[in-house]
Amino acid sequence: MRIDILTLFPDMCEAVLSESILKRARGAGLIDVRCRDIRPYTRDKHHRVDDSPYGGGFGLVMQAQPVYDCFAALCAETESRPHLVYLSPAGQTLTQQKARELAKLPHLALLCGHYEGMDERVLEEIVDEEISIGDYVLTGGELPALVLTDCITRMQPGVLAADEAFEKESHYASLLEYPQYTKPPVWHGRSVPDILLTGHHENIDLWQRRQMLSRTLERRPDLLEKADLDVQDILYLYTFPQARELPFLFERLVSCAERYVRTQKKVSPTSLQRKLKADYALCVRLLDALYARGVVSAYEQGKPRTVLPDPEEGEA
Ligand code: SAM
Repeated sequence: MRIDILTLFPDMCEAVLSESILKRARGAGLIDVRCRDIRPYTRDKHHRVDDSPYGGGFGLVMQAQPVYDCFAALCAETESRPHLVYLSPAGQTLTQQKARELAKLPHLALLCGHYEGMDERVLEEIVDEEISIGDYVLTGGELPALVLTDCITRMQPGVLAADEAFEKESHYASLLEYPQYTKPPVWHGRSVPDILLTGHHENIDLWQRRQMLSRTLERRPDLLEKADLDVQDILYLYTFPQARELPFLFERLVSCAERYVRTQKKVSPTSLQRKLKADYALCVRLLDALYARGVVSAYEQGKPRTVLPDPEEGEA
């Protein structure tokens, strides 16, 4: 993949691109990141690239002409038209999902504003989308462009030791990462969780998955709505009282229960409990919800409560 950063401050970008994983990835040819100085494209005899805003106001605005010509030169040189992103506090907020989409493109160009911003007309003419790195204002688009470049570079094949390295990281699957530990096993009286020292990979995987779930529930419950969760994940989340306040989690459980109920001639809270390995009260709630939706056709009150689904009627 190739990324061209269009900027008035190429040295600032090069400084970051010449360190750590970005440097190694570029050196190994795993990603081709180049910085293109906008200033040489100005036709102003004093090499100006900005001017005061029409209508008054503070500061200076980058002019359309040098930016347009800079991008046109890139297109001419590469005989293509790369997808052009303008880094802007007014753009859509960057997410891991967006970075994943952009990481699949063969060629991306990132346009950095400076001063008070950029003449709107050039944005309208050449920019494909605007991306913000957060609800705050920085001096220029260089740091945001580098943030995006860094994020995309990590996802290029071969950049990290293994692809799972970034797939297990925070936000990749709309979950936060589990806590990490390294040597020594005890530091300041704090021990590494015993499970991590057992070498039992299956148990460790389960522990890590559960840590991801509980941490996301505690810190960013909003992320769970888009996370890929199976029944066991949701039931684990249900061991925390705050999970029961998330309607979308209950909806997902209802869908799981519905899939099971539709394959049965007769179900009860107890049979559902056996299937889902969930608690009895929760299974009663699930069957109540399915009855209210007409998925189960007959419903007998009393103890023990019995639900008689009619799969065909339910399908209708
Ligand atoms: N006057 C502009 C406004 O209020 O929206 C802010 C201009 S800012 C000082 C200069 C440049 O920094 C912008 O053109 C943009 O390229 C970049 N920038 C600043 N904050 C950013 C953010 N949160 N995300 C992406 N780019 C940002």
